[in-house]
Amino acid sequence: MQLDNLYQEVILDHYKNPQHKKLNPVFDAQVHHINPSCGDEITLNVTLATGVVKEVSWDGVGCSISQASASILTDLLIGKSLDRAQEISDAFMHLMQSKGTETGDAELLEDAVALAGVSQYPARIKCALLGWMAFKDASVQAIAKNS
Ligand code: ZN
Repeated sequence: MQLDNLYQEVILDHYKNPQHKKLNPVFDAQVHHINPSCGDEITLNVTLATGVVKEVSWDGVGCSISQASASILTDLLIGKSLDRAQEISDAFMHLMQSKGTETGDAELLEDAVALAGVSQYPARIKCALLGWMAFKDASVQAIAKNS
């Protein structure tokens, strides 16, 4: 897989120094998602405050794409309003479906644009989306629990 060198560095940095990769025992919802095609696994905990993503913590194993993407997600979504988190998640999913034709909105997606090149490799898209699908699942459960 050929990715831009700078982007490669961002991904490797998140892989080697993952953010918020330590499950907080206190959470509103916990999910476990797997990507059998690659062997990636993630457990993700979400805590919400009123309309805000208060905390996301996770643990996982797998390829650099899946682990870096989860790390990037936590940096991006913690502290954001639920609406903004939804907007960012939608933009990332849209980017992953772009088949390499889009570079992503860096203002909205920040480090996640480093994963844009992954959209050219259908087998790896699930790696990049694993944490995001887990977040989506967990946040829906957390909203249901809090309402
Ligand atoms: Zn993977």
